[in-house]
Amino acid sequence: MTEQKQKEKVRIGRSNLVVGLTGPFGSGCGEMRKVLEVLGFHPFKISEDIRKELKGQEKLIVKGKPNWRKVLQDRGNEMRKESQDYWIKKVVARIDKEEIGNRKIVVDGFRNFQEVQEIRKIYPNFFLVAICAQKNERWQRVKNDYEGRYNEFERDDRRDRSEDYDWGQSVQKCVDDADYVYYNNENFLVYPQGKEEPNSDKIKRTLKNQADDFVSLMPGITDHRGPHPEEVQMAAAYAQSNSSKCKKRHVGAVITITQDSREFPISMGYNENPPHVPTCSELQICCKDEDMAAKLKARGKDICCPSCGTRQKDLSEPWTCSECSENLKECLYPSRNMELCTAIHAEERAILSLGGRIVKGGRLYATTFPCFQCARLILDAGIGKVVYVEAYPMKETTEFLEKNGVEVVPFTGFTARAFFRVFKKVN
Ligand SMILES: [Zn+2]
Ligand SMILES: [Zn+2]
Ligand SMILES: [Zn+2]
Repeated sequence: MTEQKQKEKVRIGRSNLVVGLTGPFGSGCGEMRKVLEVLGFHPFKISEDIRKELKGQEKLIVKGKPNWRKVLQDRGNEMRKESQDYWIKKVVARIDKEEIGNRKIVVDGFRNFQEVQEIRKIYPNFFLVAICAQKNERWQRVKNDYEGRYNEFERDDRRDRSEDYDWGQSVQKCVDDADYVYYNNENFLVYPQGKEEPNSDKIKRTLKNQADDFVSLMPGITDHRGPHPEEVQMAAAYAQSNSSKCKKRHVGAVITITQDSREFPISMGYNENPPHVPTCSELQICCKDEDMAAKLKARGKDICCPSCGTRQKDLSEPWTCSECSENLKECLYPSRNMELCTAIHAEERAILSLGGRIVKGGRLYATTFPCFQCARLILDAGIGKVVYVEAYPMKETTEFLEKNGVEVVPFTGFTARAFFRVFKKVN
């Protein structure tokens, strides 16, 4: 870029509309990127720079090769550990170099929470769109890339979801921070053999409809639609979550009833320790996490990685396998020690506040996926529908609720983060 153009850039600022894509792999971010391209977005992929830097090792990252994704994950983490905004700087430099003026931009592949915060600072007109899908569907879609190696898929997915350090991957946290969420379920884009499905046109249409929905609202000047009732209630749940002082996750929940086809909130809550019990932030620890760490420490060198079988030598934070980088905490404690959680959960609090009232046909909105314990309370309260935002919903809980007549629906739409940026205030 010439010096003059550089100055021009500084003068006009980075005012482009930028859509970032995040979500567990296999959800369909790549497909959404292609749809946005057709809609005039200039496409960029964060992983392109990682691939470029693995020059000479191209053979290792060919899809289907054992550990191909791990090589990319390791490299991504390695450079972020040295400098948190390493990859963001790279992609922004590429955007600047292309001199795309005021065109819209899509950046695919956000897998680190800090990177999302970085780009939000650089592009004030940034929106993070999360594309999610159920795990078994994701597996069907990427099965070929793994040549059927399910264990490797699960290991990569555990790392992708939440590594316990700033430079690691944290897709769950990214989705929690999204401006728009879309659940791309029941859409198989490819056959396991890699061939296009006959109705892939229909799937592309669905994705395009979804893109039309958020793209037209993001500039903040159109009013092609107001918020859906679900977006309003979920925004209230997000607002509740802001009161939580939990160190791990902030959760909000709202219970509504519908009368004469109007929906009213009647109860809400957020996750927090009981009154008179200090919060995690005050204690500076998460009790269930401390317990997990203490147990791992006590077992010490006795721990073998469940994924690759390697006996661990110097086991300490952040609890990754020295051989295969498995996320050992996630792997050895799949329910993340939830039974030792000291907090009253958001859903639990909202239900407690009903004071024993049974809300037949009521709805519960939650900013994460209800745990199994809360599912029992949901049934007890007579709630008929659960709407949630979560990249990694628990299959067992969904089945338990559905088997007992509760509709379980993933949320699609704008989150509280974007609510007042895209929806006009009604006078
Ligand atoms: Zn906590
Ligand atoms: Zn291992
Ligand atoms: Zn719960």
